[in-house]
Amino acid sequence: MQRLRRLRRTECLRRAFAETRADVRKLIYPVFVVWGEGRKEEVGSMPGVYRYSVDRLGEVADEMLSAGIAGTMLFGIPKEKDETGSGAYAEDGVVPQAIRFLKAYCAARGKDLLVIADVCLCEYTSHGHCGILEEGDVANDASLPLHARAALAYARAGADMVAPSSMMDGVVAAIRAALDGAGYTHIPVMGYSAKFASAFYGPFRAAADSAPQSGDRKSYQMDFRNGREALRELAADAIEGADVLMVKPALAFLDVVSKARENTRLPLAVYNVSGEYAMVKAAARAGWLDERRVVTEILTAFFRAGADLVITYHALDYAKWGDV
Ligand SMILES: [Zn+2]
Repeated sequence: MQRLRRLRRTECLRRAFAETRADVRKLIYPVFVVWGEGRKEEVGSMPGVYRYSVDRLGEVADEMLSAGIAGTMLFGIPKEKDETGSGAYAEDGVVPQAIRFLKAYCAARGKDLLVIADVCLCEYTSHGHCGILEEGDVANDASLPLHARAALAYARAGADMVAPSSMMDGVVAAIRAALDGAGYTHIPVMGYSAKFASAFYGPFRAAADSAPQSGDRKSYQMDFRNGREALRELAADAIEGADVLMVKPALAFLDVVSKARENTRLPLAVYNVSGEYAMVKAAARAGWLDERRVVTEILTAFFRAGADLVITYHALDYAKWGDV
């Protein structure tokens, strides 16, 4: 008789035959960089996650280096916002400063971290949208040069990779052309290829002060009801020259991750977003679930579904715990 339980009998057997494990070396920890000095402020809806001013980034850099994770993805919160999000592409903006600081900090210790710069305008615009507005609507093509300028500013500052998150059509191609034209042919682009308009982003918007002041992002981010369209978005980014594709959010979209894995040979990232993190933290605080076991299960599921890289706020905790 076929007995599938034979290989589950002891922990030694189970470990030997485990098909997947969450790999710490493939985790990216998102970091919020805020203007000012001496600031390290916990995000209320994301316990254990902080906003750092550039001068205090060394603290989280030390944690990331000792955790052995792949690296970080940076988001900036500028002092002032305006209609065109100029803080996103200012050469001395908060993110270029953070990139320079982190690269120098690691180099001084003989180490390195992958520093990925998120590229968008929504943290920098007074209206909170991901592009500039024309007659109340987000203007796609007019916004592309601004995203390209931002990507170039981050590449000049020393970013290892840029990651456009606006879901503007053609943004990957615009950034690729700008990088190539300025001699940054070696800098890869990670597209937020299938990014869904999602209520799971709520805590992030509090952290990044980036909630839209009017309307929502449904005219550019994807409809969560659509799986086939997600494959079209992923294919579009691949054609535009993306080096890495991404699905965001992750937990409620593992079917998309799995299909994406079958449909592309490009590396695939998933973004385990703020709301997914906040749910786990809240339930753990209430004593309703075992945080370590749940996080292990969640991170493992991303790799099982086909992810190569996992962007997650759990990265530092998981690296400390290991599998449980
Ligand atoms: Zn945005």
